[in-house]
Amino acid sequence: MSFNEYHSVWVFAEQTNGRLSAVSLELLGKGRDLAGSLNTQLSAVLLGWQMENLAQDLIHYGADKVYLADDPQLSHYMTGSYTTVITKQILESKPEILLFGATDIGRDLAPRVAKRSGVGLTADCTDLAIEKESGLLLSTKPGYGASMMYIFVCAQARPQMATVRPGVMRALEKDAKRTGQIIHVPVRLEASDMPVKIVKRVKEIKKGAKLEEARIIVGAGMGVGSAEKFAVIHQLAEVLGAEIGTTKYPLDEGWITGDRMIGQTGKTVKPQLYVACGISGAIQHISGVWDSDTIVAINTDPRADIFGIADYGIVGDLHEVIPALIEELSKRHT
Ligand code: FAD
Repeated sequence: MSFNEYHSVWVFAEQTNGRLSAVSLELLGKGRDLAGSLNTQLSAVLLGWQMENLAQDLIHYGADKVYLADDPQLSHYMTGSYTTVITKQILESKPEILLFGATDIGRDLAPRVAKRSGVGLTADCTDLAIEKESGLLLSTKPGYGASMMYIFVCAQARPQMATVRPGVMRALEKDAKRTGQIIHVPVRLEASDMPVKIVKRVKEIKKGAKLEEARIIVGAGMGVGSAEKFAVIHQLAEVLGAEIGTTKYPLDEGWITGDRMIGQTGKTVKPQLYVACGISGAIQHISGVWDSDTIVAINTDPRADIFGIADYGIVGDLHEVIPALIEELSKRHT
C-alpha cells in the first residue's frame, strides 16, 4: 500500500475558554522533531470561536501552519461537532501523523476521529520517534503497570495517530518572530453532528490540591464497604490534611464522586504519604502510587499484595484501625 499523498505532522491544539492546554504546546515541541526527521511541515488544528490570536500563538510555538475552524458552533468542545470537522479536514489534507494530548478531551476525541477515519490509535504514549529506515511513527507506551515499555507501529493506515500524556514532552520557547500560515477551515455541520445540546454549564469549585500535587493522600478501596462507611475515610483525610484517592470500584459504585481514580487508567501520584485503606494492591492501582515517598497499608488480609510495596503495614479492619489512628493523631494535636 502506498501513502505517498500523506504528508505533514498534525497536532490537535486543545483549548478551553481560549486557553491552550500545556500538552498542545508540548506536542508542538515534539512535533517539530518528528517533522524534521520526515522533512515535512508541522501543522496545528485549532477549533473554537474567535481563536485568531491562539492560532498566532501556535505558530510562535512551532507550527508552520494552523488549520483554524473558527465558528460559534465550536465555541465549546463537543464530541460530535469536533469529530466531524477534524475528520473532514483529514480527508482533504491527508496528514501523515496526527497527535492529541491524553487529556479528558483528547481521550474522548482521538478514538472517535480514529474510528471515523478508519485507522488505529496508540493511546497514552510517553515517547514518539520516527524509525529511520521506514519513516514510520514509533509510539512508545508503558504496559503491565509500567513494568514493560511497548513500541507500536501503524504500517497499514494513515494518519498514524497517538495520544500523549501531558508533561512528558517539552514545549519550545515562544518565538514571537516566527511566521506561518493560518488556513481558515469552512465549518459545515448538520444537526446529526450535534446530537448533544449544552443546556447549562456549571463550574465545579475544586477544594484542596490536585491529586497529582497532593502531599498526603488517603487511598480508599473496596474494603471500605459502602458509601455510608466512607465517612471514616473523609475523617482520616481531614485529620491528616489529605486528599482522597481511590481504586476503580468505589467510583464505579458511586461511593464517592470526582476525578479521583489512581492507577493505570487514572492518575499517577507522588505524595509524601499514601495511606492505602482496604486496597488489595492490584498492579493497575499500584502503578499509580509507586513514586510515593512512604506507603502505609491497612488491610484485613495479611497476604494482600499491597503489603509487598508498603513501608508500614497494619493488618486489621480499617473501620477499627482508622478511628484508633484518628484518636491517636488528635491527641498529638491537642
Ligand atoms: P479489591 O481488589 O476487591 O480489594 C479490596 C481489599 O480490601 C482486599 O485486599 C481486602 O482484603 C480488603 N478489605 C476488605 N475489607 C476490609 C476491611 N474492613 N478493612 C481493611 N481491608 C479490607 N484499578 C485502579 O485502582 N486503578 C486503575 O487505574 C485501574 N485500571 C484498570 C484497567 C484495566 C484495563 C483493568 C482490567 C482494571 C483496572 N483496575 C484499576 C482495576 C484493578 O485491576 C483492581 O481490580 C482494583 O484496583 C481493585 O480495587 P480494590 O483494591 O479497591 O478492590
